[in-house]
Amino acid sequence: MTRTVLVNAGPWLPVPPDGYGGIENVVAALVPQLRRLGIRVLLATVARSTLPVDERLTSFPDGQFEVLQRPYNQASGVAHAHLHAVLRALRDRDDIDLVHDHVEVVGLAVLSAAALAPTAPPVLHTLHWDLGKHADFYSGLDAGPRVRVNGVSASQLHRAPEALRRHSIGHVHLATPLAVGADRRAPVEKADHTVVIGRITPGKGQHLAARLAHECGFDLVLAGPVGPHRQPTDLTAAGSAAAANPDVRYWEDEVRPLVDGTRVRWIGTVASQERNTLVASARASLFPLQWEEPGGTAVVETLALGTPAVGLSRGCLPELVEHGRTGWLTDSPDDLAALVQAVGRIDPRECREQATRRFTPAVMAARYADLYEQVISGTSDRAAGGRFHPSRAANLPLGDEAPLRRVPR
Ligand code: UDP
Repeated sequence: MTRTVLVNAGPWLPVPPDGYGGIENVVAALVPQLRRLGIRVLLATVARSTLPVDERLTSFPDGQFEVLQRPYNQASGVAHAHLHAVLRALRDRDDIDLVHDHVEVVGLAVLSAAALAPTAPPVLHTLHWDLGKHADFYSGLDAGPRVRVNGVSASQLHRAPEALRRHSIGHVHLATPLAVGADRRAPVEKADHTVVIGRITPGKGQHLAARLAHECGFDLVLAGPVGPHRQPTDLTAAGSAAAANPDVRYWEDEVRPLVDGTRVRWIGTVASQERNTLVASARASLFPLQWEEPGGTAVVETLALGTPAVGLSRGCLPELVEHGRTGWLTDSPDDLAALVQAVGRIDPRECREQATRRFTPAVMAARYADLYEQVISGTSDRAAGGRFHPSRAANLPLGDEAPLRRVPR
């Protein structure tokens, strides 16, 4: 039977994104594979998205990411306007078998209200973010039997409030198109630099990476936006008004003093081939995490590009990186310097082979297609007087955590 799934990518960035965009990159990787599996996809997004789909539903001409930096009373209408467009589609048509939602909080709140109508499709809501956030909402969640959630790592779900976890049907690791055929790709010659790729924000620990680079004498390139500012020139042009943003304050107070333009450089947001070459030619990608990274797109990308990951053993990192084979992980920031030095002992081929096996869009889409069927059949059981099967959810594997976190000698 052909399924039709409304994939709600939200109003923030086009799909695929142009440079930075964790969730939008996941959607861009997932949708083509769902279609290959015979699933029709109606994508709710912004008009500038270019991803081929069966049908599109658009709320805004372009991504509204910059609005996210404004106060709540100026920003909240955007997500609601987008969700309203989704609700209209759900009201006007009866061919949608499931909504797969990716919009933080408001997606789950609005769609679980909509799913109270017995004729509305069931919902799978993917939790892409740190579940320590939004405790007021998650700890009292009662979304009913027709709404399920999934995480992007086991560790993320382990930390979720109990009420949210009761709605969970497991986790699906993130994927990247870069993993397709990565094991057959010719190796890229390594340059001298290491890299941190991601938003410049306290959780990603760029200040720690920069400090290490100076202390240990290795070159570091920081790539990614600071708040809404994609390039150094944008940040300069924004002037003092930019300091209202917490990531800009982090940059100014903790990172910028360590960026000297030679040992440590910030190159702004890099996209497509430039990003891939930067990462593939790096000796290591550093993840000195200061938070419980929930999914880590940049982690699976670095492995697919044959660059070992070196970082603190937090969040999803131990699920994605096999200590000693695809990178080095430690619990202590004091060990990071030795790990960067030992990175030559990791074989880039192993990184690419594991990525090809574990992190392709096809692997991810097969898992989602399975979850879609579970959600659809769980809810049809309900319609027939049954209920959603929590036992099925409980039996889903929680992930293959790498056991060793020792520093190599
Ligand atoms: N990214 C990029 N260019 C940059 C910085 C980041 O293309 O200059 C991409 C990165 O490759 C990844 C995504 O943005 O695909 C960030 O996703 P991740 O899950 O690592 O972080 P988060 O969603 O927490 O920002």
